[in-house]
Amino acid sequence: SAKEHGKAGYCFYQPRMSEQARDRLLLSAELRESLQREELIVYYQPKVELESRRVVGLEALARWPHPERGLLLPKSFVALAEGSGLIGRLGEVVLRQVARQLAQWRTRGLPLVPVAINVSLQEIQDGQFVSGLLGTLREFGLHPSLIEFEITESAAMKNAEHTLRQLRQLEAIGFRMAIDDFGTGFSSLSHLRQLPTQTIKIDQSFVQGAGRNPADRDITEAIIALARKLRLTTVAEGIETEAQAKWLHEAGCDVGQGFLFVPPLPPEQVPALLLRAAIRVPNEAASG
Ligand code: C2E
Ligand code: MG
Ligand code: MG
Ligand code: MG
Repeated sequence: SAKEHGKAGYCFYQPRMSEQARDRLLLSAELRESLQREELIVYYQPKVELESRRVVGLEALARWPHPERGLLLPKSFVALAEGSGLIGRLGEVVLRQVARQLAQWRTRGLPLVPVAINVSLQEIQDGQFVSGLLGTLREFGLHPSLIEFEITESAAMKNAEHTLRQLRQLEAIGFRMAIDDFGTGFSSLSHLRQLPTQTIKIDQSFVQGAGRNPADRDITEAIIALARKLRLTTVAEGIETEAQAKWLHEAGCDVGQGFLFVPPLPPEQVPALLLRAAIRVPNEAASG
């Protein structure tokens, strides 16, 4: 937690401090510097319409090129950033990278698709979040409909009143919103009805568990049926096999993401994909 980090900061040289605590302290100091220099890299993973297999969006996934430890994945630094007061800055850096990238692709004449950015509750609850966001979009001349926010379900449920107000404001401005990792948080169907969200992302643990565990399959099918009743778009995460894609499509899931289609790509590999996506003939049956 933030408190522990604060305490650790005062006893940096105390030999009793655990190896692990020292490592986290060092890493958060390095992260702070990297964020100052905007050194994060954003990878992009396509979202694919299951009916037509067309690319309908991208998800921005942060990567931290660490000088000694190599390219670090979010599990090594997102929770760390949340616990050391750096998550707001991390979000800003990711948003700026995405905005700069979209503006550059547009300048090159590439067909654009919406980019989804993962945000944590802390970021959204910050009073400066919306104004900072709008400032960045204005700077790069981008419309809010090009940006989607993925909010984890557990995060979306906490501090409900204030969070709901912030989310409704984002919706009113024209941003898209998705509930991430659906099924793993504090599921509340009444909340789902209240949330200004158009999309739910089914957690990859259900997708991957379904082959072995009939309960995972039943839960997933129930989530998809519920989402359709509520007229929400469903996205399944972590699709690794053709069998999973087929089953999800048959169950009525709209969109998929996973290593079966395309893994997260470094930015320079995205233009070829956007071009390919655009030439693909849209499937009439897929709409509506
Ligand atoms: P998420 O939003 O649920 O993203 C999906 C994760 O699954 C990504 O991991 C992605 O690389 C991985 N993945 C995609 N397809 C497959 C597949 O077929 N099989 C498997 N096993 N995994 C797949 P990644 O990039 O390590 O990100 C992990 C989490 O970190 C994300 O989960 C998201 O919650 C968080 N995150 C990533 N970037 C950011 C960011 O900029 N800000 C914040 N606050 N959180 C971020
Ligand atoms: Mg996500
Ligand atoms: Mg997930
Ligand atoms: Mg997540």
